Amino acid sequence: MPRGPLGAGVKNFRKGDRVLISCITARGSCANCKRQLYSHCTDGGWILGHLIDGTEAEYVRIPHADNGLYPIPQGADEEALVMLSNILPTGFEIGVLTGQVKPGNTVAIVDAVATLMRMTDDAGVDVAIEAVGIPATFDVCQKVVAPGGHIANVGVHGKSVELHLETPWIQNVTLTTGLVNTNTTPLLLKTVHSGKLSPAQRITHRCAPDDILKAYAVFGNAAQEKALKAILAAA
Ligand SMILES: [Zn+2]
Repeated sequence: MPRGPLGAGVKNFRKGDRVLISCITARGSCANCKRQLYSHCTDGGWILGHLIDGTEAEYVRIPHADNGLYPIPQGADEEALVMLSNILPTGFEIGVLTGQVKPGNTVAIVDAVATLMRMTDDAGVDVAIEAVGIPATFDVCQKVVAPGGHIANVGVHGKSVELHLETPWIQNVTLTTGLVNTNTTPLLLKTVHSGKLSPAQRITHRCAPDDILKAYAVFGNAAQEKALKAILAAA
């Protein structure tokens, strides 16, 4: 919540308001913002924790606060809303919406190829959501997607992947990629606050700022530690 001085340009918030910080910064007035492509705002986009310092801190400065902050409704589960800063809009926008997940579809997030093919009687899945960002999982998606299906790349890739275009082409597969725009955050905020979605179930660990290095070690070994999401809370 804002405890320090408010910037001169901040009109929508007052000192003491409790707020959700979006991972995407948007000034709200450029051509990309006008079409809700906030991830490519010419004076923002993905800058927190990427081009400027991130928010694992007791105090942070949020550029264009009027567009990058959302008021937290009275009585809301604040831990659940932490999921709305990045991971929930990312999965929803780039996985579900861009991947065009429809009722009745089979959807795979990432698994071993053999298991997935067995589970679908060798038919493959309608939507394969790549959620890791490494060549191996992108390759799994290419192998398990069914004809007419969709590969939705959510993961943040640090190096090139091999695209076997001869296969998705002849199988009428659509490949989509994207960086979250957070344009669905207001909708998701209402959905979580009304109790229809319970993202707090994904919280597996909690730690104090002094223990942050331990938390990184745990998440470096996420499979064994059964770690999904940690809440970093100042005392
Ligand atoms: Zn903009």
